Amino acid sequence: MADPNFDIVIIGAGQAAVPLSKALARKGRTVALIEAEHLGGSCINFGCTPTKAVIASTIMLALAYGAAFGALQQVPQMIRGVPEVREEIRDLAPPQAGQVTGRIAARMTLVSEVGGLMGRTILALLVVRILSRQRLLRLFQLPAFIMLPIVFGLAATTSLTWLYVGNFILGVLVIGQFSFWGNYLPRIYPVHLRGTGESFAINTGGRLVGTCFAWLTATLAITSDPAYAPTKVALVASAVGFSVLFVGFLFSFWLPEPGKEER
Ligand SMILES: Cc1cc2nc3c(=O)[nH]c(=O)nc-3n(C[C@H](O)[C@H](O)[C@H](O)COP(=O)(O)OP(=O)(O)OC[C@H]3O[C@@H](n4cnc5c(N)ncnc54)[C@H](O)[C@@H]3O)c2cc1C
Repeated sequence: MADPNFDIVIIGAGQAAVPLSKALARKGRTVALIEAEHLGGSCINFGCTPTKAVIASTIMLALAYGAAFGALQQVPQMIRGVPEVREEIRDLAPPQAGQVTGRIAARMTLVSEVGGLMGRTILALLVVRILSRQRLLRLFQLPAFIMLPIVFGLAATTSLTWLYVGNFILGVLVIGQFSFWGNYLPRIYPVHLRGTGESFAINTGGRLVGTCFAWLTATLAITSDPAYAPTKVALVASAVGFSVLFVGFLFSFWLPEPGKEER
């Protein structure tokens, strides 16, 4: 029953109804907006936006984990191919050579983790300054897919020092991206879909599919020549890492932006 206290009564607060009621109110009309379930209607609550968000973020998380597992985590396998290390272990017995490479691998992991911590800190500082989530993510993705082939395709086969430096930078750029998802995912889903959408993207995309890139790199890097094995791991990791980061960069253009109030 229409209320005589309102000029207009709109039943159902869907895509058109919310802006229409605001526009009418701005023109001085009194408007009643009646909604049975979710303000905003199907599109933003369970239709277009959450569907697009879950598909895009699941694929992108698979690719981001793919870079970490298919490239960054392969560094210990590359160390024996770096000229300085090869020289250092040349005359050592296998157990001693293993100790040397193990120590370097541990340092590489530390360097990469410190880089990751710095990346997460930088992202936290940028989150409040850069409102566009797409632009914020690309700030990490773009340099990452340029740097990765340089670090693994070049530094990993020529210089230990540059491999340390490159590993640190990749830690900032690749591991730093994981904080992006922690910040983005809760903002993009309506409250009633938060747990479902996020956990699907992280668990299925990241943890299930993304981790398979470690297997992909290891499989593609198989060689019958043990002396060439570390170099081959570096080259394959470089190709896999570049590919996943580049495709992730392209997908970022498809990522829905959270509503104004969620930013
Ligand atoms: C999974 C999914 C994916 C989609 N993807 C896309 C896409 O990618 N692109 C695209 O263009 N479209 C997409 N759509 C369609 C899009 O969501 C709808 O076309 C659009 O939301 C319709 O807008 P509307 O305002 O007409 O209705 P709705 O958004 O459905 O709004 C109607 C509102 O009225 C309320 N209501 C109904 N009856 C009453 C009542 N008696 N009293 C009070 N309130 C009432 C409802 O609760 C609802 O909130 C998708 C839909 C779904 C379900």
